[in-house]
Amino acid sequence: MRELSYSGTVARDLRALPKAHLHLHFTGSMNAHTLSDLATEAGVQLPETLREAVAADALRLPANERGWFRFQRMYDAARAVVRSEAAMRRLVHEAARADADEGSRRLEIQVDPTSYAPFVGGITPALEIVTDAAREASAITGVEIGVIVASSRTRHPLDARTLARLAVRHAGDGPGEVIGFGLSNDERRGTTSEFGPAFRIAARAGLLLAPHGGELLGPDHVAEVVAHLHPDRLGHGVRAAEDPALLDRIVADGIGLEVCPASNVSLGVFSTAEQVPLRRLLTAGANIALGADDPLLFGSRLLAQYETARHVHGLTDAELAELARGSIRASRASQTSRTAMLADVDAWLAA
Ligand SMILES: [Zn+2]
Repeated sequence: MRELSYSGTVARDLRALPKAHLHLHFTGSMNAHTLSDLATEAGVQLPETLREAVAADALRLPANERGWFRFQRMYDAARAVVRSEAAMRRLVHEAARADADEGSRRLEIQVDPTSYAPFVGGITPALEIVTDAAREASAITGVEIGVIVASSRTRHPLDARTLARLAVRHAGDGPGEVIGFGLSNDERRGTTSEFGPAFRIAARAGLLLAPHGGELLGPDHVAEVVAHLHPDRLGHGVRAAEDPALLDRIVADGIGLEVCPASNVSLGVFSTAEQVPLRRLLTAGANIALGADDPLLFGSRLLAQYETARHVHGLTDAELAELARGSIRASRASQTSRTAMLADVDAWLAA
């Protein structure tokens, strides 16, 4: 299906643009229907705030600790319905299908197995359920899936080391295997440098390093994450745009930015989509991969982020193709897949 652009010419279908999805959380990938199904199955009453947030087009919260607290409460309530192997497998399969429907050719999904461990017998089975379901879902949908094990700033750095060792034991390039290690949750929590040892364990095994940074906190925090965790990619990283020298360094170091416009607006990082500094980052030469972060709460999936880039930021089809190439380049796809996907981006633009 093609749509008319503002200039009256026929615009290319963004759904058909091959892209890689590099910022999606396991629980947050859930759709509203599944949330309600799983709540019924588990006999869990969903809090009013969560039901309202999911029913709304998009959540809107202030970028302060109160806002984050409300977000985290909703997120925890959503996570509380995922309490069986079947529920976990369902989430992976649905995330893969949703990605396939939107032209994603590769999905790198983040999961913190700690949250599901109590229901399935520990962090190892929790991770293995996800990797096994991801392997199956890759075969069914054709979307290559890699798993990123995410540690949390709200827990002890020793827990992060345990997770890094678990990630290393499941590392591999095959479908569903662990390709990376991350760090999530409120950037104001924890001391970044204390997570350094966990990231070194992951780095020694050749895992991709993809901590969050530069979302709620500004350039100083981004610099700290870069210095102590040596990321290959930054979850968000958008606040680096406030410091041109830092941004130049990120570009020079080849650190990819997982930019999630809808998430930024929902969590009050920027008050409107126009304010997300997408153009500024692109102009500086940043390698960007658009991502949905938590579609359950932010009300939109991957395709909508590309639509925002087109309609709100005025990116041309050539620029959108370059954005898709950036997502593919920043991914851990094999050279063969990468070459095939990039050729298909060229074909999309040539059509
Ligand atoms: Zn995130």
